[in-house]
Parts: sequence; structure tokens; C-alpha cells
Amino acid sequence: MSKRVLITGAAGFLGSHLCDRFIKEGFDVVGMDNLITGDLKNIEHLFKLPNFEFYHHDVTTFVNVSGDLDYIMHFASPASPIDYLKIPIQTLKVGALGTHNLLGLAKEKNARILIASTSEVYGDPLVHPQTEEYYGNVNTIGPRGVYDEAKRFQEAITMAYHRFHGVETRILRIFNTYGPRMRLNDGRVIPAFLGQALRGEDLTVFGDGSQTRSFCYVDDQVEGAFRLLMSDYSNPVNIGNPNEISIKDFAEEIIKLTGTDQKVVYMDLPKDDPMQRQPDITKAREILGWEPKVSRKEGMAKTYDYFKNLSQEELFKKEH
Ligand code: NAD
Ligand code: UDP
Repeated sequence: MSKRVLITGAAGFLGSHLCDRFIKEGFDVVGMDNLITGDLKNIEHLFKLPNFEFYHHDVTTFVNVSGDLDYIMHFASPASPIDYLKIPIQTLKVGALGTHNLLGLAKEKNARILIASTSEVYGDPLVHPQTEEYYGNVNTIGPRGVYDEAKRFQEAITMAYHRFHGVETRILRIFNTYGPRMRLNDGRVIPAFLGQALRGEDLTVFGDGSQTRSFCYVDDQVEGAFRLLMSDYSNPVNIGNPNEISIKDFAEEIIKLTGTDQKVVYMDLPKDDPMQRQPDITKAREILGWEPKVSRKEGMAKTYDYFKNLSQEELFKKEH
């Protein structure tokens, strides 16, 4: 008998890649999404498969799935700063009420659940690189607080279900992950820069560009998520690529990659934008035997290929 997994956020960037991976592993996959930031085109190739089903559903309302479930991957949530600033209440609700509903479903179905947490639980970190033991530095009432605190609540309620109800839980702390199927206009730096280069616009670096990020290719992230789910480890695990770069240097890399003759323009740094971010992945290495395999050069080449193949209409489409 095949194992059955529910993936929330299935029509989004990471969720759609997870659907592909679990299908490849021979699972029956139930995707769930309310399409608030996702797109059915990311999973349309799966609709013809007998082992894929899809529920168009908002997980902040009661979640029910007929039949047995062995696993739940809870990935539903706006994930880019401009998305969660545009829909702050929904962001809080999906991290809090949505997670509560899915933990309840996991308990009911006796399923193991993995929740998608984030490096944002560390806020603007005062410890570098970030280990799982660091408690973080988050401005609760700042504009990013809606996302960071929803994810921190998500971790807290997950551990409570684990300790109090004995639910099998896993907590994945995802660091900046990129690849094909990111939404062109989601405002995150990689689609932003690639979109600008392809439209012949200047690249917008926020602040002086000295802030750093460490970018992980999607296939590596999915491998880490899969291994964590299959492990017996219930404390949080960082999954990300420790190769750190400043945003200013990254803009120069994009200029080289795309061959654009546009220049870099500097704009205001958004409030509470973390200044430094790099995962310490010792735990992932030791517990999961995982480390990233895809270099930024290789991952960015694949990602650029994806964005290059978008239609002109998609490339110039404005979001409101
Ligand atoms: P995404 O926006 O592409 O995907 C999120 C999906 O969740 C979308 O399809 C959206 O429609 C769906 N969704 C949102 N609210 C929902 C609700 N109430 N009910 C049902 N579906 C809902 O973003 P992503 O990058 O794929 O992120 C997926 C998950 O990973 C999120 O939980 C995010 O917080 C986490 N994460 C991602 C990154 C990253 O770098 N990509 C980093 C840290 C954490
Ligand atoms: N950023 C930028 N220009 C853009 C979009 C983002 O300089 O057009 C910066 C942003 O301020 C942040 C970094 O790139 O310092 C990564 O931003 P992203 O939104 O991708 O992820 P997050 O801030 O959530 O890590």
C-alpha cells in the first residue's frame, strides 16, 4: 500500500516541488491550497495522475481530508515580504489557526506532520551563523512581525502538540530558497533581479546592499525536507546553503549571468530587514546526513532558464 501525504501550499513554489518529489517516491499525494499567492500552473502536470488529488481550500478554516493520512507537510503561508505586508492578517492566521487545524488533523489521523518554519524566527540575528539554539531577535510589532511571530507561534504550538498530545512532529527552519516556479512579482530578491534584467530595468538594491543572504537551491531544500520528515528528530533543523553573499555582490552576479547592460540603483532598506543571515547546518549534517549539493552558479543558471522562458505577457504583468 502506498503511503499518503497531505501537502498544504501545494500550488506554491516549494509546495509544488514537494508534490513532484513525493509523487516520484511513489506516494499518494493530496495537495491543498487557496491560491492566494500560488498558481495552479505549478501543479497542472499532476492533475492527470491517479495518485494526485487537489483540494481548493483555505487551511485557516476547518480542514478535513477523507481517508487515511500518513504524513502532512504544512507549507501554506505567504512567504515573501511584500506578500505578507499586503495580507498581514491572513499571514498571522495561516501560521496560527492554519497550523492548529493541521495539528488537529495530524492527531485525528495519527499522521506525522512537518511544518515549514523559517530563518525569520531568528529575526535580525545577533548570532552568526545562526544555530538552532539561538532564540532570535524579532521586533514583534514591526511590519515583518506578522510573519515572524506567526512562525514562532507555529513552532510553539507544534511542540505543544508533540509534548501534550504525543503527535509526531518535525520543524524545518528554511533559509532563503530559490528556483523555478517562484512568482516573478513576489518581490523576493531573485525573481526581482531576474525580472528587472529581463525587462531591461535597473536592478533595485535596498539599502547599501551590505546585508547578506545565503541562497539554497530548491532541490537541496526538498531533499532536506524529505530527510527530516523521515527522521525521528522532533527539534528544529536549519536547512539552507551556508554560502553567504552581500546583496550588492549578488546584483553584480546577476548582471554577469544575464548579460544585461542595466545598472544597480539603491533604494531605501525596508524596516527590520535582517542585516546578516547564514545557516549553521551542523545538525542537518549530523542528524540527516544532508548538505547542499547545488552551487549558486548552477542553481541560478537553472532559475534564469525558467524565467527566460516566461512569455512577454507574464514578464510585463503587473500585480496589484
Ligand atoms: P509561495 O507563496 O510560493 O507558496 C505558499 C503557498 O501557500 C501558495 O500556493 C499559497 O496560495 C498557499 N497559501 C497561503 N495561505 C493559505 C491558506 N490560508 N490556505 C491554503 N493555502 C494557502 O511560498 P513558498 O516560498 O513556496 O513558501 C512555502 C512555505 O515555506 C511557507 O510556509 C514559507 O513560510 C516557507 N518558507 C519559504 C522560504 C523560501 O525561501 N522560499 C523560506 C522560509 C520559509
Ligand atoms: N532586496 C533588494 N532588492 C529587491 C528585493 C530585495 O535589495 O528588489 C533585498 C532585501 O532588502 C533583503 C534581500 O534582498 O535584504 C533578500 O530579500 P528577500 O525578500 O528575497 O528575502 P528576505 O528578506 O525575506 O530574506
